[in-house]
Amino acid sequence: MTRAGNDALSRPEALALLRWLIDMGADEATGPVAVDRFAEAHRGQSAPPRVAPPPQAQPAPVPPVRPAAAPATPRLGSSAGDAIALAGACNSFTDIAAALAGFDACPLKRTATNLVFIDGNPEARLLFIGEAPGRDEDLTGKPFVGRSGQLLDKMLSAIGLSRSAAEPSRSVLITNLIFWRPPGNRKPTEAETLMCLPFVRRTIELARPRAIVCLGATPAQRLSGTTEGILALRGKWRQHRAQDGSSIPLLPTLHPAYLLRQPAQKRLAWRDFLTLSVSLDPERESR
Ligand code: URA
Repeated sequence: MTRAGNDALSRPEALALLRWLIDMGADEATGPVAVDRFAEAHRGQSAPPRVAPPPQAQPAPVPPVRPAAAPATPRLGSSAGDAIALAGACNSFTDIAAALAGFDACPLKRTATNLVFIDGNPEARLLFIGEAPGRDEDLTGKPFVGRSGQLLDKMLSAIGLSRSAAEPSRSVLITNLIFWRPPGNRKPTEAETLMCLPFVRRTIELARPRAIVCLGATPAQRLSGTTEGILALRGKWRQHRAQDGSSIPLLPTLHPAYLLRQPAQKRLAWRDFLTLSVSLDPERESR
């Protein structure tokens, strides 16, 4: 990391700053020159915490406009309204991608490299919904392309499905509850989730899937209105209530990232995938 001008850091300061960035979840350099995204994000609000002494050229911190804790929540009212209106006006996945590209209220967009929206066959009968993009997805702009995605592809293939199949009954569509990578792959906040939710709901309406498969607790809870943990939810059909009042069957299962950490739990995921497979093709059970 280099800094130009008379505010260059000493070696110990630079190392301390680098250590702090790594602790905050930074895992790669995206450019040769550091950009202070916090200054951009907090323009007009209080300065973010710094390890290194503030450079001389920086203006004095502006006192916070609101003394209250959560800065995202008060803004959520109008932003959530904007998201609902924007999403509601979309009539295709292309519209949603364009609306998301122009939607700046989700703070995750500022730290992400790419919007990560959807992959697979738009005509598919099954819609898979994960939590949020990781590093590989952020770099490529496609959901589930990293290690979790590779495992997901293998699991799909084990029951005769694939995201690249042309036949709707053999293919899947894949998206996430959140469309930008949370820094350091942290869990998305409630506010971030609520901000993206109108677009997720509109995606479901446009996809009109026969069934939704939720990968992990967060999408399952959010889309079926429960707070139960994933080990209680997995493998049991629930319902997603769409905006038009119709219900879509929703199957929660374990997230592939969890399975990579806990390979012994793959047997549970396998049971869930068999449940899914039997529901798609009931004759399979008797074979
Ligand atoms: N994990 C997710 O939940 N989604 C992705 O796209 C990748 C990893």
